[in-house]
Amino acid sequence: MSCRYGPVSNGMSERDGLILRKDKLDLESGAVLCLEVTINGEQRVLAGVATAETIRASVTVHPGFNQAWITVDGEVAPEGQPNADAHWLTGSAALGDVVQIRLVESNAPTAPRLGRIDLSVKARDDIPFVCAFCGKEPKDVEGMLASRKAMICRGCLRELQAIAREHDPEVKG
Ligand SMILES: [Zn+2]
Repeated sequence: MSCRYGPVSNGMSERDGLILRKDKLDLESGAVLCLEVTINGEQRVLAGVATAETIRASVTVHPGFNQAWITVDGEVAPEGQPNADAHWLTGSAALGDVVQIRLVESNAPTAPRLGRIDLSVKARDDIPFVCAFCGKEPKDVEGMLASRKAMICRGCLRELQAIAREHDPEVKG
């Protein structure tokens, strides 16, 4: 058997992003690591929370629909409780928009909206279960439809019905 790539390579180099920095980032006491998202020079969110396990900022384009979305979300790990989803921002982006993501530390970041989708998770805190589609809480919608595992709100049901009507002549409403 021959080895084409030689013995030293593990497929990653020091320049491959995350492994570039193996050391922890040096933060001031009380400060948390945050993602600052700026769109066209205007700060949209300073996403951070002490219980965060992950914080993600992403730009997703859907060429088929001529749409682009900017999302800032993540996951929190409340002490002694199951993880929950964290949400900071969902916004559409337009052609030419400049999206800047900066790694910063802050003592006063924007708090996320927290929620859980999986209804079978047993939690004893006050983080609400939310619509699996839009993330809204039961108190903010006209009603929810629940399956064993997740819920959908009436607003999302209506949108789905509208989409179905548009594409399927057999769906009336
Ligand atoms: Zn919904």
